[in-house]
Amino acid sequence: MSLSNGREYLAIPGPSVMPDAVLRAMHRAAPNIYTGQLWEMVPGIVRDLKAVARTEHQVAMYIGNGHAAWEAALANVLSRGDKVLTLATGRFGKGWGECAARLGAEVEVLDFGLRAPTDPARLAERLAADPDHAIKAVLFTHVDTATSALSDTAAIRAALDAAGHPALLMVDCIASLACDRFEMDAWGADVTVAGCQKGLMTPPGMAFVYFNTRADAARDRADCVTGYWDWRPRVDAAEMYLYFFGTAPTHHLYGLRAALDMIAEEGLEAIWARHDALARAIWAAIEAWGAAGPLEFNIEDEGARSRAVTTLRIPKPHAQKIRGWVEDHTGLTLGLGIGMEEPGSPSAMGYFRIGHMGHLNAQMVLGALGSVEAALTGLGIPHGRGALDAAAEAIAGAAG
Ligand SMILES: *Cc1c(COP(=O)(O)O)cnc(C)c1O
Repeated sequence: MSLSNGREYLAIPGPSVMPDAVLRAMHRAAPNIYTGQLWEMVPGIVRDLKAVARTEHQVAMYIGNGHAAWEAALANVLSRGDKVLTLATGRFGKGWGECAARLGAEVEVLDFGLRAPTDPARLAERLAADPDHAIKAVLFTHVDTATSALSDTAAIRAALDAAGHPALLMVDCIASLACDRFEMDAWGADVTVAGCQKGLMTPPGMAFVYFNTRADAARDRADCVTGYWDWRPRVDAAEMYLYFFGTAPTHHLYGLRAALDMIAEEGLEAIWARHDALARAIWAAIEAWGAAGPLEFNIEDEGARSRAVTTLRIPKPHAQKIRGWVEDHTGLTLGLGIGMEEPGSPSAMGYFRIGHMGHLNAQMVLGALGSVEAALTGLGIPHGRGALDAAAEAIAGAAG
């Protein structure tokens, strides 16, 4: 018997669940791409995108995914041979560094491992060893979606300031924007990159690069910049065709407009609080399961856990079996573990991830947790009791 028919739930860390309002907004005939409603929507979209990142500076929009945002941001500030320091708390920090290397930068990785956030003290040490300011940019991942580590942006800014170091602080907010609190200007990010398919609840296909005046000054010297990636024509363009260096992503703009309306209506503070409360319900369940069994948090320190995604550890092959079980029997899709093994040294641990970003409420979280509980039971994997009670208590407590 299958119990999976009914509305499925994609609980992976991107793409995230698409609200019906977003899908409805996209379900329409092809619009005029030069004048009319679509063109008139652009200033409001730009304004609201800035509000979501808490910045007064600029944002350039691209047709692309998160990798496009990575490359766009780097191309505007780097020249071949520039030194770049990437702070890695998992696969994504390393990946952004590899992207810089492909552009011709000399990339150094400060690796914080797979179970911890960035350590600003180690960055301070590295900056102190760079008195000539050879490092042009520090690449920082706010939330690494592979490990689910959340790092402290303001502390990284403080380390740069304390060292009097002029390197640009470039922040990957692709997983965390509109999920975990992030304040670009107050926290001192020079560049922020994001995509539309995680906290912004829109199908994959749009990338955003926010940049301040310091970063834009670096754009003058950058020799990696090409016509397509150049952020300058993409802000305050006189024509839609220039904004996107070609045809606009018509339906994505309608979907994004609907998503930004939902975000404005709920309010960013309320959205962050909702993600916090739902994440805490998930953490409460995991703690209970782990009390008598092999399931563990990847990030033990609660202060370093993301509210957008949680990575769990369990000996192989349980992780794969749990994912398969919930997909087959409950209609829930969980994220797979990525980038958690050092090449050449296979580990006994397996990983899976619960995505809890964007269009998500308490009943979805409780349903996902109940599905995992059923999988643990169905597969005979030892686990502590009371996980659903703990999650329900957390939800009830947050509801007040
Ligand atoms: C999803 C993600 C990316 C990559 O985005 P794509 O759209 O898959 O290219 C990069 N960084 C982080 C932190 C992410 O969560």
